[in-house]
This record gives sequence, C-alpha cells and structure tokens, in this order.
Amino acid sequence: MSNLPKIAWIGLGIMGSPMAENLIKAGYPVTGFTLESDKLERLAAAGGTAAGSIAEAVADADIVITMVPASPQVEAIAYGPDGILENARPHTLLIDMSSITPQTSIDLAQAAAAKSIRVLDAPVSGGEAGALEAVLSIMVGGDQADFDAARPLLETLGKTIVRCGPHGSGQTVKAANQLIVAVNIQACAEAVVFLEKSGVDLTAALDVLAGGLAGSTVLARKKDNFTNRDFRPGFRIDLHHKDMGIVTDAARTVGAALPVGTVVAGLVASLRAQGDGGLDHSALLRGVERLSGHPTGH
Ligand code: NAD
Repeated sequence: MSNLPKIAWIGLGIMGSPMAENLIKAGYPVTGFTLESDKLERLAAAGGTAAGSIAEAVADADIVITMVPASPQVEAIAYGPDGILENARPHTLLIDMSSITPQTSIDLAQAAAAKSIRVLDAPVSGGEAGALEAVLSIMVGGDQADFDAARPLLETLGKTIVRCGPHGSGQTVKAANQLIVAVNIQACAEAVVFLEKSGVDLTAALDVLAGGLAGSTVLARKKDNFTNRDFRPGFRIDLHHKDMGIVTDAARTVGAALPVGTVVAGLVASLRAQGDGGLDHSALLRGVERLSGHPTGH
C-alpha cells in the first residue's frame, strides 16, 4: 500500500486523463469519476479505480482534484447533496484545476470552509502536450499552508508551480495567460496567411521565425497544426471562447483596457459562430483565411 495521500479525480477529459495517469505513475492511489465510460475504462487500465459517482469517488479521499470545463460544471460537482462538499471528509484538500471565473473560486473556497474543506484554485497552462509530459505551469490561489501541502503532488503534474496570492488569484493569472495565448495564435495565423500568399516556403519561414524574437511556445507547439491544417483539439475554441469571456469581464471589472484582446475575443467568438467551436484554437487560422479570401481546399 502507498503512503501517499489518496486522490479522488473528477473530470477525466483531454487534460484530466493524462494528469491523473501521471499521479498513478508516481504511486498515488487515484479513484476517478467522469461522465464518459471510456475515460473511466482508461483510468482503470492505467491502474486507477473507476467510481460510479462523485460521492463514491471522494468518500475516502485525502485530496480531491477537479478538472472540468467551466464554472457551471465546477458548481455542479461541488454543491448539492451529491456534490463534493457534502460527501468529502472534513479537512480534505480540494484542488480545482479547471479554468473558471475568479469569483467562482472565491465563492467555492468560502462554501468549503463551512465544511472544513480547504480549497486551492490551480489552473494550468501547457496544453495536452504539457499534461502528457508533466511540464504544466500551475498558477495557484489560496492559503500558503495548503499550497505547501499540495506542492509535492503538483510537482508530479507540472514544472513551474507558483502561488500567486489568495483564492481566485490563480484564475486571474490564468485569464491573463489565455489573453496572451489567443493574441499570439492570432498573430501567428495572420503571419501564416501573409507568408503563403507571398509565396514563401512556410516550413522554412516558421523554422527561422521560431529561433528569433517572434519565437514562442505557441509557435513551437502549434507550428505543425498550421502547416498541416490539423485542427484536432488540443484546446477547443469553445473553451478559449469561455476564457476570453472571463478575461474581458474581469478586466472590465478592474478598469483595465484590452483593446487588442477584445478584438481577438471577437474573432474567437466568430469562429465558434461559424461552427468551428470543436476545433483546436490554432483554427484561428481558418478565420484569417476566410477574411483573406484565401484559396480553400484546406
Ligand atoms: P474536456 O472537455 O476534454 O474534459 C472535461 C471533462 O469534465 C470531461 O471528461 C467530462 O466528463 C468532465 N465533466 C464535465 N461535467 C462533469 C460532471 N458533472 N461530473 C463529472 N465529470 C464531468 O476539457 P479539457 O480540455 O480537459 O479542459 C478541462 C479544463 O482545463 C477546462 O477548464 C480548460 O479550460 C482547462 N485547460 C485545458 C487545456 C487544454 O489544452 N485542453 C489547457 C489548459 C487548461
């Protein structure tokens, strides 16, 4: 038997599955629950335990980790008679790694405190590849003591792990992350269309750009998506649309102007309205192509 804390993992999607598997590889006992049965089978095949409900998953856990799409899903799994707060033991540590509004994280921490459950918001950046390779950046909000307790576990999931401040501040930093990533992808997409229309070899161009000041993790990770028009997610446009809503709303609340971010938020929304919500966010390239009357066939 492992002496490591017992983990309940709720939400085994594109990110949750490989992250939970990294904990299993590190020796943590992991019991999981998610909506798709194939994902539960994948967890069991990796050495975890599939639970039939949230209540069953969290009943015996020392640490509960959640990784679901957005605020409504976090609220659905946390609250109510079948939720985490009602069914986890007092003093359980709840680490929500979903990207949600800072206010939802603050409210959750408050509600959990009434049940003596400790909460950290710990959203991540690095994408599916970062989850698989356990090199995520993890931005944490919450009490220092809880962060210190969570740190060994977070180190099996990521490489850059920083406490940013009190509850909700991890989410605020993640919102800034999503602003930077969206603007960066849009700039890369515009460069791709410009380069192709100019008749320059795209692979050569992106290779040399990646080595200069224009280089970025976005360019390195998404170069092949652009070149091959491979828009399988990855990170879905639907989720980035949600995140652009979070950052524009939060910026408005504090009186920060996001002139370029607001335009890119509109471009993400437009892509979604055109039916591309299920594609990877590198599909911002499709929006630029449409605006440029780019020859189709991709
Ligand atoms: P996903 O849609 O692939 O997975 C979400 C999972 O949540 C699904 O398996 C679903 O079954 C589960 N879920 C939803 N409602 C549930 C409920 N009521 N009970 C139990 N399980 C439930 O999403 P993802 O891409 O893994 O993203 C998860 C979170 O991580 C999002 O907030 C996203 O913004 C963030 N994120 C994603 C990426 C990425 O590259 N995909 C990168 C960084 C952060």
